[in-house]
Amino acid sequence: MRLAVYPGSFDPITKGHIDILERSSRLFDRIVVAVIHNVNKKELFTLEERKEMIREATQHLPNVEVDCFSGLLVDYIVQKGACAIVRGLRTVSDFEYELHMAMMNHHMLPEVDTIFIMSTSKYFYISSSMVKEAALLGGPVGDLVPPNVEARLREKWRQRKEGKGVSD
Ligand code: ADP
Repeated sequence: MRLAVYPGSFDPITKGHIDILERSSRLFDRIVVAVIHNVNKKELFTLEERKEMIREATQHLPNVEVDCFSGLLVDYIVQKGACAIVRGLRTVSDFEYELHMAMMNHHMLPEVDTIFIMSTSKYFYISSSMVKEAALLGGPVGDLVPPNVEARLREKWRQRKEGKGVSD
């Protein structure tokens, strides 16, 4: 049983993340999407909301499951008995950060490798932060996120608009 962990913030999950999951789930027997629980980071969605959105959006992938972790990723990898870490690569700016993180993790846990999957050209410009920024200003993000996420983002936008008393 070859298990891989795909860690990230997923605030929220996008079509770019789903593409990485569809492709990596063909390479491993099981993939655990591990949502990072970072109390210091200001997220738009709670941990539970992020997990729920991933579960809903990956129903077509039977070998993908959702979990969360806090603390060191390598400790979580050992606890799960995973053989690999999956990460997605979009641009050159991703590369430098990802390279450092992969080297650091490899230094702490040499028996586990990070497997990088290149974004498809269709999704390489999608990031959770850009999606949030556009959606919270009322922009159309239906092509960038699955329908369940689009609905939740629209709800957040509506709440903010009402909170600020902004009219249509
Ligand atoms: P983190 O805060 O750990 O970067 P993210 O949720 O932003 O968490 O991303 C998790 C992983 O998914 C990272 O490896 C990131 O590069 C990758 N990723 C994010 N968006 C895309 C995309 N559009 N295409 C491919 N990989 C992506």
